[in-house]
Amino acid sequence: MADLKVLSGLGVGLNSVIGDVFRVLPHATLPPRAKSTNAGAETEALREAIASVAGELATLGHRADGASAEIFEALTYLLEDEELFELAESNISSGWNAASAYAMAVDEFGELLGGDPTFAERVADLQDLSKRVQSKIAGIELLLNLPTSGSLILVGEDFSPADTAQFTEAIKGVITSKGGPTSHTSIICRSRNIPAVVSCAQADELEDGDSVLVDPVGDRVVIGGTLSDATAAIEFVAMSAEPIIAVRSNIGTLADAELAAATKAEGVGLFRTELLYLSERKAPSVEQQTEHYSKVLAAAPTGPIVVRTIDAGSDKPVPFLSMGEEENPALGVRGYRLIVEHRSFIESQLVSLEGARQATGREVWVMAPMISTVQEAADFCELAKSIGKFKVGIMVETPSISAMIGDLKGIVDFVSVGTNDLSQYLFAADRMNPALGALLTPWQPALIRTLARIAADGKAAGISVGVCGESASDPTFAIVLAGLGVTSVSASPSQVNVVAKALSSLNLVEAKAIADLALSATSAEESKASVLAALAG
Ligand code: PEP
Ligand code: MG
Repeated sequence: MADLKVLSGLGVGLNSVIGDVFRVLPHATLPPRAKSTNAGAETEALREAIASVAGELATLGHRADGASAEIFEALTYLLEDEELFELAESNISSGWNAASAYAMAVDEFGELLGGDPTFAERVADLQDLSKRVQSKIAGIELLLNLPTSGSLILVGEDFSPADTAQFTEAIKGVITSKGGPTSHTSIICRSRNIPAVVSCAQADELEDGDSVLVDPVGDRVVIGGTLSDATAAIEFVAMSAEPIIAVRSNIGTLADAELAAATKAEGVGLFRTELLYLSERKAPSVEQQTEHYSKVLAAAPTGPIVVRTIDAGSDKPVPFLSMGEEENPALGVRGYRLIVEHRSFIESQLVSLEGARQATGREVWVMAPMISTVQEAADFCELAKSIGKFKVGIMVETPSISAMIGDLKGIVDFVSVGTNDLSQYLFAADRMNPALGALLTPWQPALIRTLARIAADGKAAGISVGVCGESASDPTFAIVLAGLGVTSVSASPSQVNVVAKALSSLNLVEAKAIADLALSATSAEESKASVLAALAG
């Protein structure tokens, strides 16, 4: 082992694999944006390219299995979006050629979705589509044509949704030089149980045919390594039928609710309502909202459904709730702070949710995002209780409210910790900045100690404490959360079952001992390594 070369990155998965490197080179570069004087011919070329891409997607979708087939469906849906085509047409009328006009239209469309990791998949879908249509016009081949036999480790910059849908049985592991813990490659590899190391800057050094060990638990790739060099794998064996704390699902759309219903999720821990409004130019009516919420509530897994009122602003721009230019939008008027200017819209959401609750007979809990003070929490809870028969609560995403949990006694029924934003504000580190990933990992002891305090103060005040940030989708971290005293976790639908299995593999006393290891660490590396070693041992 001493002489073997080790490349570090961010591991995705719980066990290691060895295989031969199969490099996927970046596709040929697309031609630069250019103008054209023949608008008629450009519109025709765009129509033809879109039709041809639609044909390809249909063929790929036909061959693909469940989750992958959905990717192609989503791409086809976007491809057929009339608003997108009209945007492209208007760019052609302004003198751009077909490929440029389409690329610009997709960019404009994508801006509406913002750069939030929550929407990263949809933005990635759009960019993938843009590349497909532009490549078709430029005559560039995008199919990966991967081998179907052997034990291969796929190496590339990053993989798009359509790329990952083409992975064959031969792909046993994945290494990417770019991408991060929330990139599409990570999400897909985690849900399909393909060990991966992403954000591995030195991946470019790997050559076709090199034998490598992909060791996600150790956050590394070992060139020439064997399984005996691997960090001990983590395997969860369910010891009881039920997880030690409730495992719920995060959803944003009706499709998510349906996916979640097919898992072991005990209800929904976070329904992100803003996904409904991202491309709306005016506020939907109470009738439209009630109809939409009723469908989602009816489809959601059995159990309570925790709905978050709109979290617009900053990384989640909603056109009809725009707050205009802000110097520092992450610290600006976002989430519940919109109540000052947009009270009637938040009220309309609550009225619609009460209508949907009555129509479906489901148990609905409502919570507000970005709460900073006890007064804000009290105002929201009073408002929500005056409108519907909900359990009411708030998200804990700011350090300020995390210090006041005991004072929420008698005001809220529950809190739900959004570790994505709590990390951002605790560490003063922009969650959108890939250079700050090391500060934003949930394994940071300052976050873990803050979570311990929230859980303890919640327990003392009789307030249940859930966690719905991305950290709860990592089964090893979910164990730490349970050990800290968190009473429920909520994970993305693809992670619910593995998180539930991890939380059925030990008892609360054992989870507490694991959490104590993380609590006593003074660095993220130490907390992760000590917990993973204990779980592997
Ligand atoms: C969070 O901040 O952790 C959270 C769940 O909310 P969002 O990611 O939607 O901001
Ligand atoms: Mg948040």
